Amino acid sequence: MTSYSSHHSPVETGQNAWLSINSFPYKSKFLDKNTTCDWLILGGGFAGLSAAYRLQQLRPKDKVVLIDALKIGEGSAGQNSGFMIDLPHNISASGNYTASLEKDKKTIELHRHAMQFAKDIAEECGVSKEDFLRIGKINGAATPSSISWNDQYQKQLQDLSEDHQVFDRKEMKELTGSEFYESGLFTPGTVLFHPSNYVRNIATKLREYCEIFDNTPATSINSQNNSWLVQTPKASISSANIIFAINGHIQNFGFYKNRLIHLFTFAAVTKKFSSDQLSGQDQWGITPANPVGTTVRKIKDGDGFRLLVRNQWQCHQSMQINQSILEAKEQRLRQSFEIRFPIFKQLPFEFTWGGKVCLSMNNVPAFGELDRGLYSACCSNGLGSINGTLAGKFIIDKLCQSNDQTYLSFENADKPTLLPPNFLTQIGANLNIKTKEWRAGREL
Ligand SMILES: Cc1cc2nc3c(=O)[nH]c(=O)nc-3n(C[C@H](O)[C@H](O)[C@H](O)COP(=O)(O)OP(=O)(O)OC[C@H]3O[C@@H](n4cnc5c(N)ncnc54)[C@H](O)[C@@H]3O)c2cc1C
Repeated sequence: MTSYSSHHSPVETGQNAWLSINSFPYKSKFLDKNTTCDWLILGGGFAGLSAAYRLQQLRPKDKVVLIDALKIGEGSAGQNSGFMIDLPHNISASGNYTASLEKDKKTIELHRHAMQFAKDIAEECGVSKEDFLRIGKINGAATPSSISWNDQYQKQLQDLSEDHQVFDRKEMKELTGSEFYESGLFTPGTVLFHPSNYVRNIATKLREYCEIFDNTPATSINSQNNSWLVQTPKASISSANIIFAINGHIQNFGFYKNRLIHLFTFAAVTKKFSSDQLSGQDQWGITPANPVGTTVRKIKDGDGFRLLVRNQWQCHQSMQINQSILEAKEQRLRQSFEIRFPIFKQLPFEFTWGGKVCLSMNNVPAFGELDRGLYSACCSNGLGSINGTLAGKFIIDKLCQSNDQTYLSFENADKPTLLPPNFLTQIGANLNIKTKEWRAGREL
């Protein structure tokens, strides 16, 4: 008998604002009776829900069960900054420039494939327009190095014939109400979404087709005849096919050992303020021109507004952090917030949290067959709303022999490369991040 077991369940740190802002009324359900199915999906983030949706399209008669260790929306998919970005953050310009542009075109095609799929899901599952806004984003720059970063990015956008617009200091102030930014590079394709409402809406609608259970972690998986028996705290599930859509947590089951990097990033959301307290547009999103800088988003909340800031990265191969780390990160978030919005020195944060992303050194997914009937759609390399969505869709396209062959880009990708032992990976990654954050200066 083959057996895989996990002794760690995901633990989240801090308070995720999205669960309290305009939140969708989601009813959780817990598995307490043994069951069987054709497909069992582990994980209810972007990857797991996309896999379930794709099965509904390709195998409408099959019985599908999805379980998540947390309540849907409490994991990373429900706690991110909500940027679904069509363009790669770093357009590659090293080496052969023409080859780089070709690579970028392929990446953009894939991102747009994910966004079209996500848009179809959002429409069919009744995600409201306010929770899925295609209003673009701005790469904000406040320092000379970031301005030159944006200049280079703009040149590449021109070569790729991608729509964009440059904003000067005055236009950035008019848009954001902040005097911090010297310039900005606007691209129209990004969707700003409400992370927890997006996943909870989809899960609620998908319940018409499949069973979804919250707070139901898979703890062990044992082979039996031609299928697998998955143990959860109160009941077991028997299934011939199991899709791992649990991002970095797949390592807890012994897969991709020493091949995945686990980073935390941190976010805070202010208390509500009124429209007369900050000029500018009602909703906007800024990603930093320097990738290690600070993401900022203005969110509408009823008759008022809030600001979200996200920054700092830290590698923890244990996939866990404690409250004191979060407190230290909150101080830095506060500094970053106050240099952008000095008028809000008295406006406190209401929510602060830290969450996980999973990367591979060679920027590839952990995708494909793990054992007979066990499949991985994991490692979304930071941009989970895109790569998680693709991984979930593609694994089903592969297994159901879909006519849509786009999945071959994941199927033919290399495997995540082997890393040094965990403690060395962690030290190396954190040194690298610290150096980059120090160099980012005011952009952080
Ligand atoms: C603060 C922050 C900001 C971010 N901003 C963005 C952004 O703007 N845009 C973007 O694209 N990405 C962003 N990300 C990254 C993004 O959230 C992740 O990459 C994405 O959530 C990964 O999607 P996923 O479906 O692969 O995995 P997850 O969303 O992590 O879903 C996996 C699920 O598996 C469940 N699980 C784990 N173990 C088990 C088990 N044993 N049994 C059952 N279930 C299990 C977990 O509870 C979890 O819900 C951000 C992340 C953070 C933390």
